[in-house]
Amino acid sequence: MSKIKRLIQKTKKDPLPYLSLDDDRFHDECGVCGVFNHPEAANLTYLGLHALQHRGQEGAGICSSDRKQIFVEKSMGLVTDIFSEKRLKRLPGDIAIGHNRYSTAGTSSLKNVQPIMVNFSLGSFAIAHNGNLINALELKDELEARGAIFQSSSDSEVIVHLIAKSSGGLYERIVDTMKRISGAFSILLMSENELIAMRDPYGFRPLSIGMHDGAYVVASETCAFDLIEAEYIRDVEPGEMVIINKDGLKSIKPVPSRKQAFCIFEYIYFARPDSYIYGNINVDAVRKEFGRQLARENPVDADIVIPVPDSGVPAALGYAKESGIPFDFGLIRNHYVGRTFIEPRKSIRHFGVKIKLNPVRQLLKGKRVLVVDDSIVRGTTSKKIIKMIREVGGAKEVHLRISSPPTIGPCFYGIDTPTRNELIASTHNVEEIRKYITADSLKYMNVQGLLKVIPDPEKYCTACFDDNYPLLTPEDKEVQIEMF
Ligand code: AMP
Repeated sequence: MSKIKRLIQKTKKDPLPYLSLDDDRFHDECGVCGVFNHPEAANLTYLGLHALQHRGQEGAGICSSDRKQIFVEKSMGLVTDIFSEKRLKRLPGDIAIGHNRYSTAGTSSLKNVQPIMVNFSLGSFAIAHNGNLINALELKDELEARGAIFQSSSDSEVIVHLIAKSSGGLYERIVDTMKRISGAFSILLMSENELIAMRDPYGFRPLSIGMHDGAYVVASETCAFDLIEAEYIRDVEPGEMVIINKDGLKSIKPVPSRKQAFCIFEYIYFARPDSYIYGNINVDAVRKEFGRQLARENPVDADIVIPVPDSGVPAALGYAKESGIPFDFGLIRNHYVGRTFIEPRKSIRHFGVKIKLNPVRQLLKGKRVLVVDDSIVRGTTSKKIIKMIREVGGAKEVHLRISSPPTIGPCFYGIDTPTRNELIASTHNVEEIRKYITADSLKYMNVQGLLKVIPDPEKYCTACFDDNYPLLTPEDKEVQIEMF
């Protein structure tokens, strides 16, 4: 048995020192934002996190520096609920970094909310990490054997320990750490005096640099720049470490960039449509093109095209334009659904979806309705939506078109997905899924169609659709599957 398999077994038997697997899995989606050289650094970071709220709703935090010490404020919840004026005032200084955390699985807890701030032999630093390290478990085991004590179940804490235990100055330690960690990482690190941004050599997750009023801003997506009126400059390159301090911006390439593996799911579902990612490509434009391609590949006779809001909207618009079928908002989404609501009574059918979506009867009654959504994960949402459109909306036929291929594999690079067995497309073919969700017809986009739409298609990771995982040997893949 390999060492890593033994570790997994140990983790499953004795979750205590390795809380990560049972208590909270080693994968979460996140958004990061940082500001250097602005008197209102924490306020700008707060606004940036607010724009990036879609990347994580479980908890958020901000660290700031007044060049003498680092301050930290973090909590569970949404950015606007966490940061009162009083709390933001407790974050003085002209440097700040922030983090939004998201987790749909496992227990949520404050100990996993970032940034992680620590004091070590050279002073203090804080980090905010978006992505997922695939060798975190091995590194954690090695660090624990050398006496490290972990306080959270987040893989990001491994990075903190590696930096603290390394030798030399801060840059050398970060370079050393970048060479040791493997997987997806877009990281912001701040010391008392500087802001450092790092991106893994594959570039799985986006990370962009902007400028506002002489201050540098670094964020997961450019929608954060728009809110604070920062201008996009460039991306942090895969394998690059960007040091921003009183001397300006300096770039180091500690690890050679690899065959790039930008996450295609950022375009499909995750990033905000108004953002420009991966070398300044607009997400909305790509999603609309996905919709057009979907219409070319999978035409249907229908009277109306409706999106599953919000993420299905651009693809549905693209589909409608290409097919000539009229578009309308046949499902209305309630945007004020919080995380907590009264436990649904069994007697209210489809409550979970109803609280979020409601059909517009006068648009759908007696029609052949074509529904466009960005993806099917477990299939439960689609099933409820279709039933609702038929029963409540009065549709004559309900067809579903998905602007991505069947999701057959979990993501090990920072998108929170269910385990392989929970992904309906990994165990069922399209016809079986169609029957399960009770659609009159169901078609997905195929991987080739998806790649036709985007520039430089060879630069993308499509593992969740084609099982072709960058960075992982077949054995590593088995290990990751077992861990998830
Ligand atoms: P499901 O009921 O599991 O099939 O959920 C499908 C819906 O989940 C689609 O409407 C997607 O927009 C959305 N979705 C796709 N990927 C994710 C994800 N990683 N986290 C949360 N929601 C997602």
